[in-house]
Amino acid sequence: MDKIKVGIIGATGAVGQRFVQLLADHPWFVLTELAASDRSAGKPYGEAANWLLPEPMPESVRSTTVREIAPNLDCEIVFSALPGDVAGPVEEAMAAAGSVVCSNASSFRMAPDVPLLIPEVNPEHLGLLATQRQRRGWRGCIVTNPNCTATGLVAALKPLQDAFGLRRVFVVSMQAISGAGYPGVASLDIVDNVIPYIGGEESKMETEPRKMLGRLDGDHIAEADFRISAHCNRVAVREGHTECVSVEFGRKATAEEIKLAWQGYRGLPQRLGLPTAPEKFIDARPEQNRPQPLRDRDAGRGMTTTVGRLRPCPLLEWKFVLLSHNTLRGAAGGSVLNAELMAVQGYFSQRPGS
Ligand code: NAP
Repeated sequence: MDKIKVGIIGATGAVGQRFVQLLADHPWFVLTELAASDRSAGKPYGEAANWLLPEPMPESVRSTTVREIAPNLDCEIVFSALPGDVAGPVEEAMAAAGSVVCSNASSFRMAPDVPLLIPEVNPEHLGLLATQRQRRGWRGCIVTNPNCTATGLVAALKPLQDAFGLRRVFVVSMQAISGAGYPGVASLDIVDNVIPYIGGEESKMETEPRKMLGRLDGDHIAEADFRISAHCNRVAVREGHTECVSVEFGRKATAEEIKLAWQGYRGLPQRLGLPTAPEKFIDARPEQNRPQPLRDRDAGRGMTTTVGRLRPCPLLEWKFVLLSHNTLRGAAGGSVLNAELMAVQGYFSQRPGS
C-alpha cells in the first residue's frame, strides 16, 4: 500500500507537536503538510515551533516550511489542532474541498451529523458520515474527537454502561496545564495554585459524554439517558487529567463485577490491531494511591485510561479515580486512532492490508 498523505493545521501548538511526533514515522500515513498561523507561515518548522516535548523534534520536519492554512493542501487527511474560535470555517472549507478533517476543536463536536468518536466506544457513529455528506454536499467530511477531559470519563464509563447501565454521574476534574495549549495559563496564576474555572469546560463535560454513549439511530444519535454534573479545575500538573467520579448505575453492581467490566473490556481498535491502539483500553490499578499523573499518564504510550480507588459512595453508589493523557489519548493520539479506524473501513484512497 502507498502511504496516505496527511497534513496538520495548527502544527506548531501543544497538540500539533503531538501530531508531528505520532505521524513522523507512521506505518500507513505520510506527513506532507504542516500549517499554522501567519506568525509561523514561511518559516522552517524547527524555527516556528517552540518544541515542548521531551523527545527530540523528528529530523524529517525540522526544515519543512510551515504553510499558511488553505484548502489546497497536498494531503487527503487534515488533522486539525486549531483553537476552537478559528477552527469552524477553516475545517468546513477543507471538508467542502474534499479533505477528511479529523478535528480536535470543539466547533463541530455536537453537530447532529458529525461523529464525536472514540474508536473503542462508538465506532458505529461513523455511520453519520453518509448523512453529513448528503446534507452538506461536501466531497470530504469532518470527524471530531472529544474534549480531553470528557475522553477519560467516557473511556471509564463505557464498560460500566454496557454492564450495568448509567443513571447519574458526578465528576470533579484536576486538569493539567498543557490542556490550555502553549503558552496557556500564566505561571503566576498556576504555580502554588488551583484555578476552579476553565471556560466552557463544564458544559462540554455535561453534554459530550451523552452523545458518545448514545445510540446511532438512522441519521442521528439518540443521546444516552443519564445525568452528569461536572466541576472542572486547573492544577499545576504538566500533562494528564485526573478525575474523581461518583456514579449511580441502572442495576446493582459489586466491586468485583466493576473491576471485571473494566479489565475485560476490549474495543474494536484492539481487535483490529490498529497501530496507535493500546493493548489495554482501561487499566484498573489495585494500589490505594493510584492513578497519579506522574506515574500513570504514559500507560499504553499515553493511550490507556488508568482507573483506581474504587470504593462505595455514600451519595451515589460507587466512586473511583481516573487518569487520561490529555494531549495523547485526549487529543492527537485520539485523532490518529480515528483516522486509522477510517482507513481500515475504506474511507481513503488506500486501504491497509489490501
Ligand atoms: P495551542 O498550543 O494554542 O496551538 C494552537 C495552534 O493553532 C498553533 O499551531 C497556532 O499557530 C495555530 N493558530 C492559532 N491561531 C490561529 C489562527 N488565527 N489562524 C491559524 N492558525 C492559528 O493550542 P492546543 O492546546 O494545541 O489546542 C489545539 C486545539 O486542540 C484546540 O481546539 C483545543 O481546544 C484542542 N484540544 C487541546 C487539548 C490539549 O490538551 N491541549 C486537548 C484536546 C483538545 P501559531 O504557532 O503560528 O500561532
